[in-house]
Parts: sequence; C-alpha cells; structure tokens
Amino acid sequence: MTANPSPVARSTEAVLATAGAAALGGALGLLGGWPLAIATGVSAGINGAFGGWRQVYGWRTAKGWFAFVSDSTWGLLGTTLGNVLNLVNLARPDSSYRADFSRRQNRHVFEKGACMKRGFAFTHGNVISNASTGRESLVEERRRFIDRHEGLHIWQNRIFGPFYQVVYLAWFAIGLVAGTGTWAVKREKPKLKRLVETAAYYDNPFEFWAYKRDDHWEDNRADPVLKWRRPRWLKRKPAPSSSPPTAPPAA
Ligand SMILES: [Zn+2]
Repeated sequence: MTANPSPVARSTEAVLATAGAAALGGALGLLGGWPLAIATGVSAGINGAFGGWRQVYGWRTAKGWFAFVSDSTWGLLGTTLGNVLNLVNLARPDSSYRADFSRRQNRHVFEKGACMKRGFAFTHGNVISNASTGRESLVEERRRFIDRHEGLHIWQNRIFGPFYQVVYLAWFAIGLVAGTGTWAVKREKPKLKRLVETAAYYDNPFEFWAYKRDDHWEDNRADPVLKWRRPRWLKRKPAPSSSPPTAPPAA
C-alpha cells in the first residue's frame, strides 16, 4: 500500500502541476488567439490541480510525463470532458474516488458516479467513472478490466487526441443508421435497441480494440448479426494433421 502523503507534499505537487499544465495548455491555445489560450490554459490547469493534488501522474516514468503533456495539449478535448466528469463526481458524495486505482497510475478512478448505462464504466479523458460497473464495489479482481479496457480508452485519447472524440461520435451516428437499417430489412426482427447498440457502440474500432485487449470481445453482448467477425476467407485453418482429409463439414 502507498504511504499517506502529507498535505504539504500534495499541495506543492498541485501548485506545480497546475502551473505546468496551464502553461502547456495556454501555449497550445495561443495558436488560436488569446481567448482560446485562456480557455485551454484554464482547462489544462484544472486537470493539473486534480492530478497534482491526487498525485495521479507517475513522474518517475516517461509514460507519466507523456500522459501529463498529452492531457494538457493534444488530448485536451478529452481532458476537458474528464474535468466535467471529475467536477460532477466531486458533487456526488456517493461517487467514491479510489486512490488505490489512481495514485501514480495516470488516471482518476471513481468506483461509482456518473455513467451512461448502469452496468458500464464511463471514461472521458483520464477519468473513469462508475468503474464498479453496477457492482457493489470495485474489487481488486476488476483491475485487469480497468487497466486493459478503460485504461486503453485513456491512452486512445492521449494518442489520437481530438480524432478520438470525432471518430467516436461519427461512428455512433453512422452506427445508429446502420443498426436501424439492418433492423428494417431483417425478416425475423432482432431487437432494434441491441442492433443499434452493436453497430454504434460495440463495433466502434476503439471499443472493438478495448474489448479484444480485455479478452471480452467474443462474450460481450453485441448482436451476432452485426458484430465484427473474422471473414470466412480468413477463418483459422485447422492445424495440419497426419490423418487423411475428411469430408467437409455441413454448412
Ligand atoms: Zn469501452
């Protein structure tokens, strides 16, 4: 377990991280003029304050520095959404911030808090909300899911920057149309909601990647009608064996 950090250490880190993040965000915003520079500086600064006070950044690693710089610049759109999530959860006493899942791990994890759907975690920028995914509490056994699925979304935002939000939203809109269209032409009607959810959410490349990484693509709740599958011509061939070829299986 981590030692309890002193309030002085936390305050110092908060001041330094706020100043550093605000400077980075402000410098980026200057490309668009002073009003934008003030907005980006303030948003990056808020993240710096949260991150410094809670000591989330791993300053001893290059990864931690990359996370801080990207959160303050390239990934700032997601960071700004994460700020909103942080502030909303701060106002909810039941959101339960989890330092053991966050401190020096380049992220803010809330056991409960704001979410889109009860059984799903909700991640924006470097903030993971409702990490217990509807369960009573966030247990250590769920760390793999937090690391591999939700944690990946945090890094997708840091690496792809604003493209992450743009692709996510565009995919959602196209998925809505694709899901509804499939439902309309299917003779035996599968459930509309699930088809739309599959096309708009599960099939999103960022989600596909995260479910695959967490080894939960095959068993997730996506509708098989629209769920990504390995194309037939790419199907894994059975391992060669010495037995003579048998008749092809029935289709
Ligand atoms: Zn996801």
